[in-house]
Amino acid sequence: MKARCLVCCDPAEVDHHPDWQQRDVTGKPRRALCLNGPYVAKVVWPWMTRAAADPACDALEFEIPAEACKPCWCDACMLHMAEAKLNVNDLVVHQQFGFNSVARFRKETAAYAEAVRPGMKVRFT
Ligand SMILES: [Zn+2]
Repeated sequence: MKARCLVCCDPAEVDHHPDWQQRDVTGKPRRALCLNGPYVAKVVWPWMTRAAADPACDALEFEIPAEACKPCWCDACMLHMAEAKLNVNDLVVHQQFGFNSVARFRKETAAYAEAVRPGMKVRFT
């Protein structure tokens, strides 16, 4: 059995945690959760731990929608970019940061899955 997670799109979490939402350049929230906020550690990884604890589950699949890769201006992203000394006003740099955030999410999530249950199949689509 495969457990599936649609990353960044969780209407209940969006409603409960407006501060975890992505922001556009004007600061307006989007109906998608940011990978650089607490969402991953507070929602995705606990979900993965529960799914991996089920002996019937032999694979995890994470669907990463296009929304997850969009440049985001939330506090967490702005802080990460400032720490990396990236120019937050350069849209190309900002877009690249968005793609890198997804790449980091994949890498960290795969490593976490391996730690939780060694040999577990993890797929990103
Ligand atoms: Zn963000």
